[in-house]
Amino acid sequence: MREFAVFWGCTIPARFPFIEKATRVVFDDLGAMVHELAGHTCCPEGTLVKANDEDAFYTAAARNLAIVEKAGLGVVTPCNGCYSTFKEAASHLRAEWRDRDAINERLASEDLRYTGDLEIAHFAEWLADTVGAGALSTRVTRPLWGMRVAVHYGCHLLRPQPAVRWDDPLHPTKVEELVSALGAQVVDYTTKMQCCGGALDRVGEREGSLAFARRKLADVQNEGADALVVVCPSCFQQFDLNQAALQRANEDVHVPVFYLSELVALAMGHEPEELGLGMHRVSVDPFFDRWKARSEEKRRLAEHFDVGLLAKCDACQACKDDCPVCKVDPAFQPNEIIADLLAGRLDGVIAEGQLWKCIECYTCQEMCHSRIGMAGVFRQLKELALERGAGPEAVGAAYAEFLKTGALGKPRESARKKLGLDPLPAGGGDAVARLLSPTVGAADGTEKE
Ligand code: SF4
Ligand code: SF4
Ligand code: SF4
Repeated sequence: MREFAVFWGCTIPARFPFIEKATRVVFDDLGAMVHELAGHTCCPEGTLVKANDEDAFYTAAARNLAIVEKAGLGVVTPCNGCYSTFKEAASHLRAEWRDRDAINERLASEDLRYTGDLEIAHFAEWLADTVGAGALSTRVTRPLWGMRVAVHYGCHLLRPQPAVRWDDPLHPTKVEELVSALGAQVVDYTTKMQCCGGALDRVGEREGSLAFARRKLADVQNEGADALVVVCPSCFQQFDLNQAALQRANEDVHVPVFYLSELVALAMGHEPEELGLGMHRVSVDPFFDRWKARSEEKRRLAEHFDVGLLAKCDACQACKDDCPVCKVDPAFQPNEIIADLLAGRLDGVIAEGQLWKCIECYTCQEMCHSRIGMAGVFRQLKELALERGAGPEAVGAAYAEFLKTGALGKPRESARKKLGLDPLPAGGGDAVARLLSPTVGAADGTEKE
């Protein structure tokens, strides 16, 4: 669907116009033809309206959709609540034709008719299924390289599954794929599929609502995420506005929160000021500070490694369990070291020293369908570590011995004699020492310039 009606809902224009701004920017950049239709009302919200009067809920939803149908369009909404309301109404009115007929009798006075013959999509669904993560990645001019982003789907983007039927209701992946397409690293966390709890606020259960927010934000923070991305204004409210309330109560929670379109617009080159990101209650400055630092780290990493190949290896993980070292020493996880490099931790990787556990057996290279292998990366890391004087003592001592003698051990002449072995011819240690000396290069011993 490249041409459609947009349904903003109540919350975005009233409370978070910066989400509207970023979403419009993304629609524009991706060439969507967006129609703004007159006459829409609240979707309506389920907890407040459906619980009071189911008939009012379905009538108002059908009326909103009938306006879109009359214009001969489908509808895209950036609000999980509106999406869920429309999907639920469509599913109910598809099965309950008597209810649909009764509603249509009333809608006739407005010259409207709801048939259900229209597409209903969430903004994230539109981005994932119409634009596609692959195509989106080609539009990225400022990748979120090295940034660790946690995703919160929100219940109503996925459930109830019989009505919604988009991504897997318990193990979704599509928003993560979009975040990866922007160049960020997706961070998993235990409470990912838990509700934001914002609906508790609407029924006067403020403490319960804050408890939900606190728990998820703590999980995200403990995973070291640089940001939490949401696809619903109510979830945004829960994690941004209510996080600010937790901060005012001196709670140790600091997680910048973005609506998906904001991250997309940033990655496509738009500036935070243009998008009004200063209007968030929880400062997003730490995110930008880290993004800037990691971009610099990427530049440094690219001086030593092919970052594209590292990223390909990180995304693949096919030989993850084949390394013989990690079978006996689980502390050595070569794929995690690759991920650390991509996360901008080159200095940390060198200082921590795990890289020396790669015994260069080339198993990973032989198993690799793309002939990448990780052995070469570890060899390069070892060289860098030695340049910085950060190698194990044994390696430094052995190299010094080699430079001095051209060998790593002296023949055991007495044992060899007992076995009837002839003395070995003289070695070439002196020649090697001369060759490798920083000031003497030629075999004839002449000084280097
Ligand atoms: S879901 Fe909530 S914010 Fe969105 S339109 Fe419905 S009632 Fe308004
Ligand atoms: S070395 Fe090859 S097989 Fe192993 S994770 Fe990297 S790309 Fe995949
Ligand atoms: S080369 Fe290194 S990383 Fe690869 S399998 Fe062997 S020990 Fe593991």
